[in-house]
Amino acid sequence: MSFAGIGYDSHRLAQGRRLILGGVEIPGELGLEGHSDADVLTHAVIDAVLGAAGLGDIGEHFPDTDERFRDADSLCLLTDVLAEIAKAGMAVVNVDCTIMMEAPKLGPYKQAIRMCLGGTLRLPQERVNVKATTGEGIGFVGRGEGVAALAIASLEQG
Ligand code: MG
Repeated sequence: MSFAGIGYDSHRLAQGRRLILGGVEIPGELGLEGHSDADVLTHAVIDAVLGAAGLGDIGEHFPDTDERFRDADSLCLLTDVLAEIAKAGMAVVNVDCTIMMEAPKLGPYKQAIRMCLGGTLRLPQERVNVKATTGEGIGFVGRGEGVAALAIASLEQG
């Protein structure tokens, strides 16, 4: 049996914050606001994995009111989720995702993001696909106010 789940997240861009996407820090003037490290891509992946496993959403597992998760490394949260699905006899087969961001262009970073997420998911590169697109000047992404991410994960039961 295989199971699919989707995830979506968005975070606001702000001064004085780091920009971390899929565990990779992208240099630049603006970063993402949030309770944790605000890794919008990893949050979307976590929700996709939780969705496929029928385990709710990221907010239920890691509430943003909980001080334990302040500035948390989102890859560690993903690792916790992977341990939970493993307990349920499930494993991730593949992940595909899209980052929506106006600037900087993510072309030079996509491979590093793919490798970083793949390392945490313990999946070979071809099972972790990372795509990037801009907002073409439209909406909060296009105006450079924030970054959004979509992910889909497929899981298999042992
Ligand atoms: Mg988030």
